[in-house]
Amino acid sequence: MFEKTGIPSKEMVMEKFPSQDRINKGPVAIVECYREIPCNPCETACRFNAIRVGEDINNIPQINFDKCTGCAICLSKCPGLAIMIADGSKSEDTVEIKIPYEFLPLPGEGQVVKGLDREGKHITDVKVLKVTNPKSFDRTPVITIEVDRKFLYEIRNIRVEV
Ligand code: SF4
Ligand code: SF4
Repeated sequence: MFEKTGIPSKEMVMEKFPSQDRINKGPVAIVECYREIPCNPCETACRFNAIRVGEDINNIPQINFDKCTGCAICLSKCPGLAIMIADGSKSEDTVEIKIPYEFLPLPGEGQVVKGLDREGKHITDVKVLKVTNPKSFDRTPVITIEVDRKFLYEIRNIRVEV
């Protein structure tokens, strides 16, 4: 399925996730880079040396979840919009997810928007907690959403209805 559609299987997604314990400790990056492509801004952007592509720029990036602080700098620098941040430290019922969002209009803070899975299907409604869009993010705004924990492995995008 992935070769035809570019949509990863559940197993492929799960391999990119850290443990629930790590997510519950605080924000951490999930790097959904599945293809060997010549790309490494995630590695060069990370000041904590948490992501490694290595000498061959075609390597798939590897993340050290213990070194990752969840700062989200790599998220804004990834041209493939392949990175999100998950933080399960705030609530037993919900997780905070940061995603890159390059569409207009941007949502407003407090707005309830459609939460989408990796196929773009609506799976739940989510609340927008924060919209971060500094110049240093170079037109890749980062949206923080609050998501029911049961959708942790499915949620990947949002749709803002006007
Ligand atoms: S979220 Fe921050 S610390 Fe974690 S891999 Fe990305 S840049 Fe590095
Ligand atoms: S910057 Fe994004 S697309 Fe490029 S290697 Fe890193 S995760 Fe993959």
